[in-house]
Amino acid sequence: MPKVIVTTSWDDGHKLDLKLAELLRKYDLKGTFYVAPENREFKREDLLSDFQLRKLSQEFEIGAHTMTHPRLGKISAAKADKEIRESKEYLEKLLEKPVTSFCYPGGSYTFLNVQQVKKHGFTLARTIDRFSMNLSDTPLELPTSIHTYSHRSDAVKIARFANLDPEKTAIYYKHWEILGMAMFDKIKEEGGVFHVWGHSWEIEECQFWERLEKLFAHISGYGDVEYLTNGELV
Ligand SMILES: [Zn+2]
Repeated sequence: MPKVIVTTSWDDGHKLDLKLAELLRKYDLKGTFYVAPENREFKREDLLSDFQLRKLSQEFEIGAHTMTHPRLGKISAAKADKEIRESKEYLEKLLEKPVTSFCYPGGSYTFLNVQQVKKHGFTLARTIDRFSMNLSDTPLELPTSIHTYSHRSDAVKIARFANLDPEKTAIYYKHWEILGMAMFDKIKEEGGVFHVWGHSWEIEECQFWERLEKLFAHISGYGDVEYLTNGELV
């Protein structure tokens, strides 16, 4: 039997993560929530409170996502180091447990940032790279399988995944959840890791909740599939 792993991750620490957690719970899926406690891209009242974070961490993994959500590859090394270190300290103090997974905001990072993440004790750091279907040998630059969003720039990769079948390509291009199901089916057959990630605020904005639930229903409930948090991958 090929080994099949399913993991999920959700970025930014928005209050709608609670709705996402509910859906994960419904389908018995594990997840990692990457939180930037002072995320400047949202109003304070739209972010999870400390109390909500503590509660969420009883059931799910909480990972660090810097303090204010800057693009690490575009700020000074000193500023990046501070953002990485402080987010770990803040969350560990709040949750009273080690925080070992990290996610680069906007997928922006340099080689130096990878070293900084390692130096501060993270054992895993997720990127926004897609179309990975195997266990990664670069845990500090962990790729994903699919983002819960349709990327125009993925057309070539989608066509390749669909073996250049024009009908399948068109459907996968329009419906990320159907692409996700097909990826999972391939992994289920051949072994590997299916990693779905997204943003609860984006799912709300794009009205993708039904699509997400369809994908969750499809990938859950298999006795021979290992359901893990991101941190449990390493
Ligand atoms: Zn983010």
